[in-house]
Amino acid sequence: MSAPERQGIATRGFATHNKDAKFGPFEFVRREVGPHDVLIDIAYCGICHSDIHQARAEWEPMMPSMYPMVPGHEIVGRVSQVGGEVTKFKEGDFAGIGCFIDSCRECPPCKAGIEQYCIKGSAQTYNSTEMDRETPTYGGYSKHYVIDEKYALKVNATGDLSGIAPLLCAGITTYSPLKKWGAGPGKKVAIAGLGGLGHMGVKIAAAMGAEVTVLSTSPSKEKDAQALGAHKFLVTKDAEAVKAATGSFDLILDTISAQHDYNFYLSLLGLEGVMVVVGVPTEPIPLNAFSLIGGNKALAGSLIGGIPETQEMLDFCAKHSITSDVEVIDPSRIEEAYDRTVKSDVRYRFVIDMQNA
Ligand SMILES: [Zn+2]
Ligand SMILES: [Zn+2]
Repeated sequence: MSAPERQGIATRGFATHNKDAKFGPFEFVRREVGPHDVLIDIAYCGICHSDIHQARAEWEPMMPSMYPMVPGHEIVGRVSQVGGEVTKFKEGDFAGIGCFIDSCRECPPCKAGIEQYCIKGSAQTYNSTEMDRETPTYGGYSKHYVIDEKYALKVNATGDLSGIAPLLCAGITTYSPLKKWGAGPGKKVAIAGLGGLGHMGVKIAAAMGAEVTVLSTSPSKEKDAQALGAHKFLVTKDAEAVKAATGSFDLILDTISAQHDYNFYLSLLGLEGVMVVVGVPTEPIPLNAFSLIGGNKALAGSLIGGIPETQEMLDFCAKHSITSDVEVIDPSRIEEAYDRTVKSDVRYRFVIDMQNA
């Protein structure tokens, strides 16, 4: 028996139907706006590397891909309808949606506002289900989203919204560990890798007042790094420069998703230094215990941020005029954008314009 046709708000997105398929228009239905819900007319949605991994089923079996899939969790738009009990938004406000749209609301992490670590598992914005564990979630490559106001973010925009979209994933992914591990005045912070995550890391760490160094294999990125606000640039293939920088950093934010040697990067940390991993290489990476023991160092990880901290990050970025450097595309160019993102051929994030889609 097929499921009954769902009542709700008809919308249109761009979906892929299997790991090898191309994206195409997809008509579907969002739920009716409930008392605590807001309807967001999506203006822009960023293309995160994790969209590509999931659309192409590259994270299976750890994270199965569900089709049809409408990816997208870097969403900004305008509130066009609010439920009767909504207090945080009014019609016409700018709003954002990040990587999750609901969680159990009862476990200790949910109560602490770190819902991304919900013990029961939060409801992801796409390639997931709502908390009923049945209703599939479709992401931001679409015209509309209906979300409980508690899980939507307030966006304080004065100008172009397109550069704000990537803050909802790339921004919070870098802001949260930089803040937690004390990036600020007097701290030497290194950002490893200068892609979608790395370029946000540079801007945010610099705005926090840290001395920022970009660690990169490509000397050609030095000019860009400086333009983004980095104070120094270290080519990791330059043996002399590496020797001079060994033991010099307080914090390394590792955004690299290609295979790389953690032990090498840990050697650049000074006493009690911390390296935080936010990039996700596909294969495990060997770790020499001495890389940590020698200087009382720590290797940590971090996953996006909770709703309160994501709001704090958006407010911080608005205050410091930080947006992502983006290339805006039409939905017909999703495939091309995916291929170019995989080749790191984008400065620094593709954002899909959904307004005329
Ligand atoms: Zn993402
Ligand atoms: Zn929970």
